[in-house]
Amino acid sequence: MLQTPTSDHQTAGGGDRDELPVLRLAGLKTQFVLEDGVVDAVDGVDLEIGRGETIAVVGESGCGKSMTARSILRLVDRPGKIAGGQVWVPAPPDSEVREPRRRRGLLRRKKDVPVLPDAPDGMVDLVTAEQPTIQAVRGKRIAMVFQEPMTSLSAVHTIGNQIVEAIRLHEPLTKEEARQRAIELLGRVGIPGPEKRIDSYPFELSGGMRQRAMIAMALSCDPELLIADEPTTALDVTTQAQILELLKSLQREFGMAIMLITHDLGVAAQMADRVVVMYLGKVVECGELRSLFAHPKHPYTRALLRSVPALGMRRGARLDPVRGMVPHPYDRPTGCAFHDRCDYFIPGRCEVAEPPMITDDDGHQVRCVLFEEEN
Ligand code: SF4
Repeated sequence: MLQTPTSDHQTAGGGDRDELPVLRLAGLKTQFVLEDGVVDAVDGVDLEIGRGETIAVVGESGCGKSMTARSILRLVDRPGKIAGGQVWVPAPPDSEVREPRRRRGLLRRKKDVPVLPDAPDGMVDLVTAEQPTIQAVRGKRIAMVFQEPMTSLSAVHTIGNQIVEAIRLHEPLTKEEARQRAIELLGRVGIPGPEKRIDSYPFELSGGMRQRAMIAMALSCDPELLIADEPTTALDVTTQAQILELLKSLQREFGMAIMLITHDLGVAAQMADRVVVMYLGKVVECGELRSLFAHPKHPYTRALLRSVPALGMRRGARLDPVRGMVPHPYDRPTGCAFHDRCDYFIPGRCEVAEPPMITDDDGHQVRCVLFEEEN
């Protein structure tokens, strides 16, 4: 039986972290300042993920899904930068926040994390937090799995060494104890002969096995939230189904929340409790899976759902792709960013002002003028 570390249920402030959401984004904004202009890759995203919940973030390529995920853990490469908003997570206990090693004064003194006036009790803002707090959250409280494991696994270290290192970064275990735990994890994610495979290099494993090893590494510290960025896109359909099934069973066992980034609505339908639809860096619709798939409101969501093959389609029938192309990031349309592709476009209105987010009585949110009157 896999031994999971005893999780600390206290926040730094002494509150009960089980009562807090695992993530709350408030107006998150990520920009790329380039010679030709400024690209708003993430443009004011609000989102909350509860304990044990699975949300799927969907949309076409370039709509800001992955950049939202990377911004949460402050993994945005230059020239990108987080330009505004907050990323609230339950504050890690003091025992998990390591003081930085000071070498000849090269490192800045650790400053207190600024507390904003609207800071939720027991939560900390990763956008303004110092590195020790971010390191205590990254990998331990929030782990991430990427589409292509070879980009995140080191090619020159065995998978065992990499998992052992990840475990020992956050847990006070000896090398041998961490190795035993890595073997258990590799077995748990379905890698046959984990005692031997632990000494394999990533290139010696198939794509599916590498993804399983990546998941084992992500789970090594019993995270509260697993962010999976297109975790099955590079895999064949059989392996894809196995990995999704594995994620579901691990979620039941570990009780973690999952934020699944995917362009595949079939994957979202299979996994999610709630679906978030993004377009050009903004959330345009968000709701419970059944309600959103059965009664999509935003014209973009409707178009996405029409573009997916359905059971019972007649042979030779054509799919109905979303009309037009995602606009160039420098050429963002005015008003509703979807207006030049929308079948319901209202001239003189849709291109004039950006519609606000509207929430109905069931918590279903949509950003479209068609629902302003209904509201
Ligand atoms: Fe279409 Fe107008 Fe709604 Fe935008 S606001 S999705 S253009 S109807």
